[in-house]
Amino acid sequence: MIGGAGTTDHLLPLTRFPKLGFKSPFNAAPTCASCNSIKGLLDRQTATSEYPNPDELNWETHKIWVSRARTFIAAKRAEATGRFKGEDANWERALERRNALGHDSATEPFTGPQPSS
Ligand SMILES: [Zn+2]
Repeated sequence: MIGGAGTTDHLLPLTRFPKLGFKSPFNAAPTCASCNSIKGLLDRQTATSEYPNPDELNWETHKIWVSRARTFIAAKRAEATGRFKGEDANWERALERRNALGHDSATEPFTGPQPSS
């Protein structure tokens, strides 16, 4: 859980296992809304047949599936962080170029990175 409102996630998604819901305590996982949203991507790319049998959910399968979701969420967050780093570099270059041209950052508006040529 990284931040945001706390929720309880269905480990085996409700859309695929509507009868399971939270009937099994092993299907409940505390999460934040943000992680829960990313986990939805994992659910969409996981075939129903890949999930454990809902009747056989236990502490061991719970831990395996929580771990799987966490690995997926961490990878998606790392991808997003990489994209932000690229944007940071663009902004830095744009600011350096602007300063090199003698613009006054205090009084002149800054319009952001220009497309690289
Ligand atoms: Zn989170």
